[in-house]
Amino acid sequence: MNTNPNIVIIGGGHNGLVAAGLLAKRGLSVTVLERRHKVGGASVTEHPWGPDYKVTALSYVMSLMPQQILKELDLPRHGYKIHPQHGYFSPLPDGRYLQLPADDQRRHEQISKFSKTDADAHARWNEWLGDLAATLGPLLATVPPKLGSKRPKDLLDQAKLAWRLRHVNQKKVGDITRLFTMSIADLVEEWFESDALQGVLAVSGVIGTWAGPRSAGTAYVMAHHQIGDLGDGEITGSWGFPEGGMGAVADALRSAAESFGAQVRTEASVSRILVRNERVAGVVLENGEELSADIVIATTHPKITFLDHLDKRELPDDLVAGIGRWKSRSGTVKVNLALDRLPDFTSKPGFDPEVHGGTIVLAPSLDTIEGAFQDALGGQPAETPFADICIPSVFDKTLAPEGHHVMSMFTQWVPHNYADAPHVTELDAYADRVIARVEELAPGFTNSILHRSVIGPYEMEHTYGLIGGNIFHGELSTNQMFHMRPFPGYADFTTPISGLYQGGSATHGGGGVTGIPALQVVKRIEHDQKHWRKGISFLR
Ligand SMILES: Cc1cc2nc3c(=O)[nH]c(=O)nc-3n(C[C@H](O)[C@H](O)[C@H](O)COP(=O)(O)OP(=O)(O)OC[C@H]3O[C@@H](n4cnc5c(N)ncnc54)[C@H](O)[C@@H]3O)c2cc1C
Repeated sequence: MNTNPNIVIIGGGHNGLVAAGLLAKRGLSVTVLERRHKVGGASVTEHPWGPDYKVTALSYVMSLMPQQILKELDLPRHGYKIHPQHGYFSPLPDGRYLQLPADDQRRHEQISKFSKTDADAHARWNEWLGDLAATLGPLLATVPPKLGSKRPKDLLDQAKLAWRLRHVNQKKVGDITRLFTMSIADLVEEWFESDALQGVLAVSGVIGTWAGPRSAGTAYVMAHHQIGDLGDGEITGSWGFPEGGMGAVADALRSAAESFGAQVRTEASVSRILVRNERVAGVVLENGEELSADIVIATTHPKITFLDHLDKRELPDDLVAGIGRWKSRSGTVKVNLALDRLPDFTSKPGFDPEVHGGTIVLAPSLDTIEGAFQDALGGQPAETPFADICIPSVFDKTLAPEGHHVMSMFTQWVPHNYADAPHVTELDAYADRVIARVEELAPGFTNSILHRSVIGPYEMEHTYGLIGGNIFHGELSTNQMFHMRPFPGYADFTTPISGLYQGGSATHGGGGVTGIPALQVVKRIEHDQKHWRKGISFLR
């Protein structure tokens, strides 16, 4: 075993593994240290009910990973395989349903059942979003400059960004400003009139967010999820289910990293980052083992990295205060089920790959979603939670025994302070209510359930390291975006400590299984190393 690695990566979530693979491929000596018994972090497949069922415990669908990562790490060779997701299906309490298939004409017909005006507007909406994504996509893969800094290099970076954006006309600046500041409810109400369409479209504005659809800034969250595949100019926004669940993505990343010589250690929990003379020197594990390192990349939640693993005296006071204020709530609850048959929806009986193999959305209107948030804001778990449901075993036969299925229900909200205590009874009652909603739409559903697990904010924090239960290591609110992610002056993947970098979801481009923070931190290290070789110190 290499006891003196050049690079130590804290956290074996997908970002840690992407960074490990890319750096090892460049010939560097890399060790990944993961606290849990397995890699993946929030991109994980678990076996809560024995070996027969593979459960994609937290995240459940891929979209935003740049082609560059897939290609450089040759992930398909390591088992990475995606089954495309087949549109959206929203069964409604009044017995109707709204379906949004990929095909333009069929989608038009579906929406026309509710409103011809909406059907026409939806085509324009997609064009409008695609156009905005063409501008925002590359920005997601851009290292944010240090806005406001007057240092010559930082002024140059700001000027470069302004130059890159010179083609953005006044209208688009207006649209982007509206997107960043508006609520998703105001936005979809401007475009559409039917409750059903407004409800389905609003869900992506509040996924993983401690904000209801009527809260300012949620329009951007929707756009973040629409931007899609990045990094090489290809922007699709299309989603898919990885074969073997999201843990298979982590396994493929681990296998790729190891094939290039990286070492991946599990049950290796870091307790301290060592700093000597304002430079990183290595890490100490919980068991007392010390590993020295020239470079450390922290992919952990920023509260873990800056407030637990470092001594406050090693950091500027304003950074410590800023990370202390970092908002990391969401009130998300994941309900995972094993079923002995597929649900049969009264509104659309029988098997339909676009229903059972798509995303089933329980969000009949903006008011229902907002009501769920208001319940949680008032301190109660939602009476009528919204749910984003998928059944990946429809395509992926590796997940469940023949004829059986696994169902993933992403739901919101419970009070965000459920991260402080398990609240098992309340979560069970909450899950019962989600299941009862499906039962109303697909009678017999409850009887088809063989097993269930309910993962709330406390478990997300304590088992998976998602502090506060936020699914993205920090809310995607305007005050925590771009040059603010996670703190002004350090959105370029560096930290105040020379040789210590950040590459987790709380950095720009993060939030989702994107690998973008990992790609960026690798580029940053390459850049700094060039300077180092020329005799200039590692950082600034
Ligand atoms: C319920 C849920 C649903 C989601 N759905 C989706 C989805 O469908 N699609 C999508 O793209 N994204 C989704 N996300 C978001 C996405 O999963 C995360 O943003 C992403 O996986 C985070 O990756 P990461 O590598 O930055 O961090 P993490 O995955 O959090 O990895 C950090 C790792 O650090 C480890 N660690 C913590 N402390 C220590 C320590 N002291 N020493 C060593 N290791 C440590 C943790 O165990 C963890 O493995 C979802 C998240 C959740 C929770």
